[in-house]
Amino acid sequence: MAIYNLRGIVFRAVDYGETSKILTVFTREEGIISVMARGVKNPKSKKQNLVSVFTEANFELTKLKDFYYIKDGEIIKDNLHLRNNIIKIYITQIFFDIIERTMFKNEKNEIIYDLLIKSIHYLNLSNKYITILNMFLIKIISILGYKPVLFNCVACRKKKFKEIFFSESRGGILCEDHQNHDCIRLDFLEYEYLCSILVQIYEKIDIIDNKVDEKKFLKILINFIRYNTEISVPNSYKTLSKLIGIS
Ligand SMILES: [Zn+2]
Repeated sequence: MAIYNLRGIVFRAVDYGETSKILTVFTREEGIISVMARGVKNPKSKKQNLVSVFTEANFELTKLKDFYYIKDGEIIKDNLHLRNNIIKIYITQIFFDIIERTMFKNEKNEIIYDLLIKSIHYLNLSNKYITILNMFLIKIISILGYKPVLFNCVACRKKKFKEIFFSESRGGILCEDHQNHDCIRLDFLEYEYLCSILVQIYEKIDIIDNKVDEKKFLKILINFIRYNTEISVPNSYKTLSKLIGIS
């Protein structure tokens, strides 16, 4: 039987029968797959950590029809740092939920995989949690093909503005002459923030000015993603909203 060596991160682990689990794993090579982990609930099983949610590992799998079976694996990162902070747990869950809702099963996307792993890595290194979440959201929606137009007015293409507005439905920035009833006014600091989270890499997160109301942007970005992909709002986002006080 063919062996598949896939690098992946466990999104979900659901009990199956007395001793097994069915995992949802996002892999770099094959996208989101279902994996049967037989016997892992057995206390003697050495694979228990391998099949925990948030674990990133090199999985050794066999495949029968559309299902993969765990043969073995080696943990790359257990991401235990996430478990000691409830905000980090929900932010990571939002990463997972957005990916699961916007990608098809078995749809490979290495760029999104690498973005996810990097986002989780920076949740450990930095305490700018909402900045990281906003960066993830604007980057993933751009990768998915809905990059917001930020450097000129969507309507007239001019690059100098007296006032700046963001429009979900027009997919970017509108100037003072083309604003309409359903766009959101941004001041210049906010505009700069929006541009920064789009173009900056996580390595430069410290130069992003997060004195603006970042929750306002979290809401804008979630609505922007919903508008373009027509996904439903994940419960993880609803819970985080309550935790951090977004109405
Ligand atoms: Zn304009």
